[in-house]
Amino acid sequence: MYDVEKFIMDRRPVFCKKCGGKLFYQAGGVYQCQDCESEEYDDFGRIKIFLDEHGPAPATEIQEETGVPIEIINLFLKHGRLEILEGSKFYIQCEKCGCALRYGRFCLDCTRQIAGQLMGPMFEMTGEKPKNAKMHEKMRFLGDKDEKKGRKKR
Ligand SMILES: [Zn+2]
Ligand SMILES: [Zn+2]
Repeated sequence: MYDVEKFIMDRRPVFCKKCGGKLFYQAGGVYQCQDCESEEYDDFGRIKIFLDEHGPAPATEIQEETGVPIEIINLFLKHGRLEILEGSKFYIQCEKCGCALRYGRFCLDCTRQIAGQLMGPMFEMTGEKPKNAKMHEKMRFLGDKDEKKGRKKR
């Protein structure tokens, strides 16, 4: 299993581009320089700002506009930090049965099969199947939904 946090950590900014000062993590993928207070962003921050400004967008457009590789966008999807909107043309696939998912690694059925009745860490990988698949692929952050379920990790 790949470690998405480590992969993203390897790509995060460490030093300020303007003055070379050390960056400190703020929130939502934003880092601030301790010396000149200018802000830098990691992949998550770049995508978040782009989606905040432009609204939901396809992965290819996010990649083009933010410079974040599509592989990383996919990792965010698999780990439920991004979701593909209902009615999209493109979805990611359940890693076990290949059915369409809006986010996550496994559909609910496969999660149940793998994890049995246990609702431990596997539950975090469960994605959601789209109700239909007609329009264009768009994604947004999962923030609101996670807060409602009360399993938001910060
Ligand atoms: Zn600086
Ligand atoms: Zn499945």
